[in-house]
Amino acid sequence: LSQTAQAHPARPAISFQLFSGADAPAETLDWAGLHAQVTRLANLLRARGLGPEDRVAYILPNCNEAVVSFLAGTVAATVFPINPLLDPAHIASLLRETGARAVITLRAFPKTDIAQKVAQALKDAPEVTDIIEVDLTRYLRGFKRLVVPMIRPKVPRLEGRTYHDFHAACADQATTLQFEDPSEDRIAAIFHTGGTTGTPKIARHRVSGMVYNGWLGGHMLFNEQDVLLCPLPMFHVFAAYPVLMSAIASGAHIVYPTPAGYRGEGVFDNFWKLIARWKVTFLITVPTASSALMQRKVDADISSLRIAISGSAPMPRELYHRFTAATGVEITEGYGLTEATCLVSVNPPDGVKKIGSIGIPMPYTDVSIRRQEFGDIIECAVDEIGEICVRSPGVARDTCPNGEAHHTEDGFLRTGDLGRVDADGYLWITGRAKDLIIRGGHNIDPAVIEEPLARHPAIANAGAIGQPDAFAGELPCVYVELCEGHQVREEQLLDYLRANVHERAAIPKHIEILPELPKTAVGKIYKPELRRRAIGRVL
Ligand code: ATP
Repeated sequence: LSQTAQAHPARPAISFQLFSGADAPAETLDWAGLHAQVTRLANLLRARGLGPEDRVAYILPNCNEAVVSFLAGTVAATVFPINPLLDPAHIASLLRETGARAVITLRAFPKTDIAQKVAQALKDAPEVTDIIEVDLTRYLRGFKRLVVPMIRPKVPRLEGRTYHDFHAACADQATTLQFEDPSEDRIAAIFHTGGTTGTPKIARHRVSGMVYNGWLGGHMLFNEQDVLLCPLPMFHVFAAYPVLMSAIASGAHIVYPTPAGYRGEGVFDNFWKLIARWKVTFLITVPTASSALMQRKVDADISSLRIAISGSAPMPRELYHRFTAATGVEITEGYGLTEATCLVSVNPPDGVKKIGSIGIPMPYTDVSIRRQEFGDIIECAVDEIGEICVRSPGVARDTCPNGEAHHTEDGFLRTGDLGRVDADGYLWITGRAKDLIIRGGHNIDPAVIEEPLARHPAIANAGAIGQPDAFAGELPCVYVELCEGHQVREEQLLDYLRANVHERAAIPKHIEILPELPKTAVGKIYKPELRRRAIGRVL
């Protein structure tokens, strides 16, 4: 960061735009400004008695202060980003589990109850001594479109805790680090996984993993002329490592639009205008976001866009083609996971992309596909499906105190994802071991059902799960969300599946249309909720 700040002090580093729309208020920090704020906050944390082993949590929607908190937290202590959409009891248990000493959060703000939830959580997290509050009301001044009362909701203060205003407290601190830079082998951050398949796991990341992600930016072809639009939350590895670290290494500018945690504004409503306003060159997206975008006509000049990177969940082929037709940009699909500080493989941004593949392993990343045979773990042959195992400088070596054995003896992380490597070295993900539907001993990959549904013109999103059954063990059950303005009956969808799903065992027993599918904070379809729904229906 200090090198980039020296090389490009006045170039824009990060911008946060509150609410979507071309006229929405925004604030930009240049590289010198970002560096100064990070240094000041790091000094403040140390001045409050935190050391490298202490945890500082931030519970914030995306904003410039979230980026500053992430970086300063890694420099002065061990940072722990927490999803602000979690309920107070969950936030409190994460704070207790990690022994967080300081929390950086939002001061009460219209349209979000983050401050209220955190205040409630803090009652059950007595080890938190310092609360640093970010006041975003400055963004609202002069913003005519916002029709919310400016009355600030009251949040209770807890005795025995020290409250700071983020900017006022940082202003008293020096803009040079008052302590030594952290060593590369130190744990700098703790992340919880998205919990898409169940209880979130905790991963500990070292400074070296962060540096590795920065280095990968060059591989992704970022440079200081690029503008990255990142709608993903700063508590997810995708935003924190591949996006932020490689922007720091290359001097690219990141724009964060309407963050997770606000109600009432559709983040995608003015997305094309947002791309035009900031002359975005790199779009960071996930499949459900691309699906939402494809329901909105391209109504702005998006000719600046050159690359769209998608990861975190399978990208249906149909969506891929629709996106390319609408934008003129091919999606570059990649694959990663929290335990690997994110990126494992990506299709070459400037080379041959294989649609449906998750690309080629990143440099210095080894991928090994393994399966069990008579109790032994063996390496799979080309195109043979097994568990994807990963070894790289980014892999968190000590993951998941609450998980199963996640590493092999030779240092590979067992991802729990199933896949294969083709003869050209491209990786294909074929499902998650935990998501397989097992019907009478027959393994069904949910994608076999979801892929054809993604091609149906009326369907925005579909999620297939296994519904418990006394005879078969599990039966396929499907939930769908329709595109705006479309109507179709459940029996018609069943007929459509009978005609388009070739595996007979995969034809679902039940299909249900929901107004919206449950999703995680990064927009993945949240299957545990669908399973609960299916169990409730069966009982
Ligand atoms: P949890 O692991 O707690 O269930 P999560 O899946 O949300 O939650 P993350 O670390 O955010 O945790 O996501 C990593 C997972 O996302 C991978 O293990 C893989 O299953 C899935 N994934 C990532 N990229 C892709 C992709 N391009 N295609 C298909 N699946 C992907």
